[in-house]
Amino acid sequence: MSQVALVRCEQYELDRVRAAVRRSVDLLGGMRSYVPSGARVLIKPNLLQASAPEEAIVTHPAVVQATVELVQEAGGRVTIGDSPIGPFMKSRLRRVYEASGMEEVAQITGAALNFDTEATTQAHPSGHLIKRLEVGRYVVESDVVISLSKLKTHGFMRFTGAIKNLFGVIPGTFKTGYHAKLVTAERFATMLLDVTDFVRPALHIMDAVVGMDGDGPSAGRPFPIGVILASTDGVALDLTATELVGIEPLSVPVLKVAARLGLTSGRLQDIQLVGDAFDEARVTGFRPAKSGLDVSNIPARVRAVGTGLLVVNPRVTAACVGCGMCEENCPVQAIRVKNGRAQIDLAVCIRCYCCHELCPEHAIELRQPWLGRIFMR
Ligand code: SF4
Ligand code: SF4
Repeated sequence: MSQVALVRCEQYELDRVRAAVRRSVDLLGGMRSYVPSGARVLIKPNLLQASAPEEAIVTHPAVVQATVELVQEAGGRVTIGDSPIGPFMKSRLRRVYEASGMEEVAQITGAALNFDTEATTQAHPSGHLIKRLEVGRYVVESDVVISLSKLKTHGFMRFTGAIKNLFGVIPGTFKTGYHAKLVTAERFATMLLDVTDFVRPALHIMDAVVGMDGDGPSAGRPFPIGVILASTDGVALDLTATELVGIEPLSVPVLKVAARLGLTSGRLQDIQLVGDAFDEARVTGFRPAKSGLDVSNIPARVRAVGTGLLVVNPRVTAACVGCGMCEENCPVQAIRVKNGRAQIDLAVCIRCYCCHELCPEHAIELRQPWLGRIFMR
């Protein structure tokens, strides 16, 4: 039976976070059970984009610092790394590390920040869908990976936590390729489970002190949850987290596919919860992500009209400054910037919501048509 540790932590005051992260890992046997002395340890936070910790888009630096310190205490040598959305370039990494507080964590703790942007092709014969994948070289050169996810909603995947966090080991624009190839939520979720199985993090720790609800993973509302969660089993961790915030676990594609593959029963009772009382930590009022139908099998000609009435559509707002980032990163080239403003061709759009996720101005909103609201209840 998989164990999930839950420890209350209501704010990001460093000493409180240190105590909560330590206790959550101690409940699972302590950091020395996972990190041999001298091991090269990659700590992989969610660094989706260059944003300040209080926006609740990235894993909070206090959680990263507390984990780095525990790993160092166990004798591990830490590198902090992730591939944010968009091209995997040193200049972008520098901006993300600075804005998210990782640069400061590295200065305080002496941990290294990854600037190696090389990709390597790896075989994964046991993958259900992905038998070969492109991974950041820094990932395969580490001995141990510790994933530090952030609890958030996600337009395409409904929820992002432990399993979705591992998508960040795929470098930059290779991620766009997966969106283009795996347009159904279930195929995309299968790929995420394959990537997680390839990376096999020794430990998953989730920053759920403040999560994000609504229009996550980047344009939602910071939502106080007040816990740190930890597990060696990312699926069990995600299931616990969804239950905690009131999302039906099997409505999340990753958990639905995991259940089909026999990785979870889908029931919280089959997880051994340790630490603070789960029922007292439950939150109410957490708004789910808007999401809609799978549009992949609908011919492009009818997609614009038919699905436009039912599914959640990306829509460019007046906040667009025409920077072109969405145009560069749309996996199916559905966006053109004309006269300083992005325009989306909904006949081509596969509703991956990458543009919504990456727009630095939060200028792409997700709109659920009224007909879709009725049918998707
Ligand atoms: S929608 Fe956002 S990412 Fe796209 S061009 Fe406008 S500001 Fe840039
Ligand atoms: S327009 Fe946006 S939602 Fe549609 S395919 Fe492109 S990136 Fe994805």
